[in-house]
Amino acid sequence: MTMQSINPATGELQAEFDTWDAETLDQVVTQAGYMFADWSKLTPIEDRCMMVRRVADVLRDDMEPLAELITLEMGKSINEARAEIEKCAVCCEFYADNGPSFLADEMVETDASKSYVAYLPMGVVLAVMPWNFPFWQVFRFAAPALIAGNIALLKHASNVPQCALAMEEVFRKAGFPDQIFSTLMIGSDQVEQVIRHPAVKAVTLTGSETAGRKVASIAGAELKKTVLELGGSDAFIVLDSADMKAAVQGAVTGRFMNMGQSCIASKRFIVDQTIANDFIEQFKQAIEEKFVAGDPLDEATTLAPMARQDLLDELHQQVMDSVALGAEIVTGGYQLDRPGCYYAPTILTNVSSNMPAYNEELFGPVAIVIKASEPAHALGIANGIDLGLAGSIWTNDLSTAETMARGMESGATFVNNFSFSDPRMPFGGVKNSGYGRELSHHGIREFTNIKSIWIK
Ligand code: NDP
Repeated sequence: MTMQSINPATGELQAEFDTWDAETLDQVVTQAGYMFADWSKLTPIEDRCMMVRRVADVLRDDMEPLAELITLEMGKSINEARAEIEKCAVCCEFYADNGPSFLADEMVETDASKSYVAYLPMGVVLAVMPWNFPFWQVFRFAAPALIAGNIALLKHASNVPQCALAMEEVFRKAGFPDQIFSTLMIGSDQVEQVIRHPAVKAVTLTGSETAGRKVASIAGAELKKTVLELGGSDAFIVLDSADMKAAVQGAVTGRFMNMGQSCIASKRFIVDQTIANDFIEQFKQAIEEKFVAGDPLDEATTLAPMARQDLLDELHQQVMDSVALGAEIVTGGYQLDRPGCYYAPTILTNVSSNMPAYNEELFGPVAIVIKASEPAHALGIANGIDLGLAGSIWTNDLSTAETMARGMESGATFVNNFSFSDPRMPFGGVKNSGYGRELSHHGIREFTNIKSIWIK
């Protein structure tokens, strides 16, 4: 099998890589297992932090070539690619600063003369990662996991093999010994071999529900821990007291950042019926003014391509199937007539619960607007699907907002801001959006043995 790196802006094949055979894969995973003792026991946490801090320096030093690689391989605009690299550097620094305190022993008063909780590393952790934030998704797992003393194996999405190899190089440049962070050049059909390998102790996956269920079922059979981050269809609730201008600006960024290919993008705009028409009109105007297609390497470009043609086709099918069932296109709804995977920013209204646009994740630049009669109705709509990653509420009534935030079935709710990730706050979902948490002190503890030590 080969993995192809294709420029989504042009359709050009940039590079091709053969996947590893089973024997090579086994050797690399076995070797990773041998490295665990060295890394976790002989390399003090201060040294691990120092190396992760150096990773931040390498990322910033190599910002331009790395950002360019992201853009060429999965299509996002160069400005967004640079921001992604910077965010990875910030994440590395955050864990280098805070990792030791997050993992410090916690003394507990019991009947013992001394008793405490220790956070000890688990071993080799496999990360199955997606292409949408090809660096960030990996670093938010790797920085804490490595500082905790684990070994990281990356199985990256098949359409970003050059990013996957570049990350391995970043760790090497930062002084990491070989095999502490390794990229596995394998397809998804080889993931099972890795999960079942005795050296591998846990798995984290960010991606589709289908992939999550598959990986979790294999890991479950092996009784190995999983953390799953499976995307969402975030509600963006606009109440009648909201600052309309701010809400519209938030909607544009929240939905169309990364060309909508983000698990925590705002996807379902649930708007009080008294202001809905005004919101739709301003939202439409804002996106028609803002987005102009161009080369994503050009800083002036505001409409970049989606990452792959099959993803665009799937999104368009969801739109067309919804239109066939009665949804109305306010703007967009088509692929641009130019080379590359460009999809027009789209708004759909008149959507109802029998439509894919209502129930399924729309992983691209398509927004749906649903009208609600009152806050309780809006919250009911927000909670009425199987996904629950994040969401936002826009209103000047902060008391109502906070009550609704607690009632929203999601891993995070933002008030008067679109959802985003921040290393200081935990990140993850409920329902079919997955389980487990990344980031903050919760994230670094996911791949530890939370151990009780009790001394009489
Ligand atoms: P996938 O879930 O298929 O890919 C994500 C990762 O999982 C990739 O590394 C992929 O490898 C791997 N994978 C896929 N299937 C399996 C499997 N059966 N066993 C083991 N590993 C597997 O995402 P797609 O790229 O196909 O995107 C499809 C949809 O997934 C999107 O439309 C979106 O809804 C969702 N998604 C969500 C993301 C998020 O951030 N939560 C990110 C990306 C996608 P390979 O590439 O080799 O198939």
